[in-house]
Amino acid sequence: MEYSEIMVRYGELSTKGKNRKSFIMQLAQNVRSALSDFPNIKIKADRDRMHLLLNGEDSHAVIEKLQKVFGIQNFSPSIKVEKSIPALIIAVQAVMKEIYTGTESFKITAKRSDHDFEQTSEELNLTLGNAVIDIFPDIKVQMKRPDINLRVEIRLDAAYISYETIQGAGGLPVGTSGKGMLMLSGGIDSPVAGYFAMKRGVEIEAVHFASPPYTSEQALQKAKDLTAKLAPYVGSIQFIEVPFTKVQETIKEVVPQGYWMTLTRRMMLRITDEICQLRHGLIILNGESLGQVASQTLQSMVAINEVTNRPVVRPVATMDKLEIIEVAQEIDTFELAIQPFEDCCTIFAPPQPKTRPKLEKVHEYEERFDVEGLVQEALAGLKISVITPHSSEVRDEFADLL
Ligand code: ATP
Ligand code: MG
Repeated sequence: MEYSEIMVRYGELSTKGKNRKSFIMQLAQNVRSALSDFPNIKIKADRDRMHLLLNGEDSHAVIEKLQKVFGIQNFSPSIKVEKSIPALIIAVQAVMKEIYTGTESFKITAKRSDHDFEQTSEELNLTLGNAVIDIFPDIKVQMKRPDINLRVEIRLDAAYISYETIQGAGGLPVGTSGKGMLMLSGGIDSPVAGYFAMKRGVEIEAVHFASPPYTSEQALQKAKDLTAKLAPYVGSIQFIEVPFTKVQETIKEVVPQGYWMTLTRRMMLRITDEICQLRHGLIILNGESLGQVASQTLQSMVAINEVTNRPVVRPVATMDKLEIIEVAQEIDTFELAIQPFEDCCTIFAPPQPKTRPKLEKVHEYEERFDVEGLVQEALAGLKISVITPHSSEVRDEFADLL
């Protein structure tokens, strides 16, 4: 049986009082862009529900895309039926023949917004319930938690039957919480951090530090491919590549190796902070997880974070590695992330990084090179590409950026 419509129930936004309207508009826009491959779909959003009129588009493909849109609690594909008792009886029986396997309990839940319809909701429950019993005399009727809840809605234009409720992605529509810069390496943690941020409505742009020729073209591509895995949640993501070779070479040359890592991270954060400002972002996001490596002790975080007042949100900070991996598997970034292309941090990783860097030392070593000059040089060489789920074409946008 072909679905003609999908009825979408909003997630948390139902509770958001005044902001409700903008939430719903953002969600409608996100649904539209997630379903851009299906030009015939019509979206009708009202206060309580969103209706997607499929107009012949493939419901299975649509459902798959819809499951990635944040801000949707769940949704029910439904079948459009002519608004008459005989037509409803035929349709309800046909649906039950298709889904009933001989063991499930059922009930009919009728609802009508067309109050001129010839039967009330209760009468409809009885009529259609009996129609099912006519064809399956042994079927069990159960009011509380039936296995099959056949919903029948009598609306002004037609009647709609649905029996399935598909879990949505939850969260808030991306874009309702402002924009953040995601520091995206090629590792397991940062894509997961980006996923969680989007889930709470944050629009992300990916900032990736590359140090060619020490880091390879494949390492860069891997970061883009990881971004492409996050793109289906939003349609497309801006990917900002930062040339980082000179910074790393300079630090390596003038700073004792115990402090390479701390100073490198401070430079990354300074540059990301500037990019955030240029791109009208509000926060910075990264994939740091407490205690995972030397740069992620609390003392390190304090030393690194000193360079900015901007909130640095760390969505996976308190998660165990195994928990992070589980999410990475769910969002299909894990296999890519474990491919062995060295990123800039691994290559310049000192044998013994300080786990408790001292701020006086940090400041002393930063006197040895032109911090601001290097930041500006990196910013002058930014490359931006637009990553979609299908492609990762590079488009230079220097002019827009600076
Ligand atoms: P990940 O799995 O995300 O690579 P990690 O466990 O390897 O994290 P680190 O290498 O210490 O940890 O990096 C910590 C965070 O710093 C990363 O999650 C990411 O947000 C940021 N980061 C590290 N390297 C880069 C890079 N080359 N480009 C952009 N951000 C980076
Ligand atoms: Mg890493």
